[in-house]
Amino acid sequence: MRLLVVEDENGIATRVEATCASDGMSCHVAENGTEALEMMKFYDYDAIILDLMLPDIDGFEILSRMRAIKNSTPVVILSGLSTTEDKVKCLTIGADDYVTKPFSKTELLARIHAIIRRTSGHFSSIIDVGPIKIDIRQRSVRIYGMEMSLTSKEYAILELLAIKKGSVLPKEAFLNHIYGGMDEPEIKIVDVFVCKLRKKIADMTGGLNLIETVWGRGYTLRDLAEETVNSSTNSLKVG
Ligand code: CA
Repeated sequence: MRLLVVEDENGIATRVEATCASDGMSCHVAENGTEALEMMKFYDYDAIILDLMLPDIDGFEILSRMRAIKNSTPVVILSGLSTTEDKVKCLTIGADDYVTKPFSKTELLARIHAIIRRTSGHFSSIIDVGPIKIDIRQRSVRIYGMEMSLTSKEYAILELLAIKKGSVLPKEAFLNHIYGGMDEPEIKIVDVFVCKLRKKIADMTGGLNLIETVWGRGYTLRDLAEETVNSSTNSLKVG
């Protein structure tokens, strides 16, 4: 997962970055509002941690502009301002949560995870797709209850497929999810990771191919549970 941290105080930015890194998330830091709005144009963030008092465009304005252009990335305000008035104002203009400085690392992480879960429509940190159970909090995967051994990049691909299950994801989306626009290798690398991932899944499921290629569009994860439900509904209609 990748976050944008909008923070002009170097010490705090570093602390937030280290907190997120300790939990396997990567961060981009923007030191002012202009930079933050620019970065949002180029990257698709899982969440944004937004300071309010910034040297140029303040956090209230950034948030208003984001929501005005229908950017729905979840936002956690991290601010020294602690009045009820400030909190209510932020929540009213579209913030998802509010944490006051000085912050507790565990509380900040818990709140980030909670809003990412809420906004992706997953209320538990475990996503079930057929025989696969992906725990996005623990970054672990089980198939039929057996632990799956994955590299961090294979995991990232499977995580994205699971979070967006039902959608066809272009290869660029995987590249962006894994590398975040930094030192991206050639797009063909996605096929290599998917190939390895398919083999591991097939080995553990007796040959099932759960990652489907949609020619010219990308990849999608098949949900066998839903397919079974749909086919039994169909057969009921036929019968
Ligand atoms: Ca500040």
